[in-house]
Amino acid sequence: MPEKIKVVVNEDRCYLCGGCAGVCPTLAIEVHSTGWEFLQDKCISCRICINACPVGALSAKPLEVSE
Ligand code: SF4
Ligand code: SF4
Repeated sequence: MPEKIKVVVNEDRCYLCGGCAGVCPTLAIEVHSTGWEFLQDKCISCRICINACPVGALSAKPLEVSE
């Protein structure tokens, strides 16, 4: 099993293009006109979104057991 991660966004870089939401296989990211949202319960830690962002706005943090 890959390490469980939490995906975080750098809001200074993200321009809300929706690309990450489009490639996420489990719809764990939602991009609205008002902002970027991560749904931890749906994420399977595949990291596809992180590699897909054209401006490198996404990064992974280890998911603490208590979170
Ligand atoms: S790591 Fe995978 S499952 Fe989690 S938000 Fe990114 S694309 Fe979706
Ligand atoms: S792909 Fe990158 S720039 Fe586009 S919405 Fe996702 S985090 Fe923001």
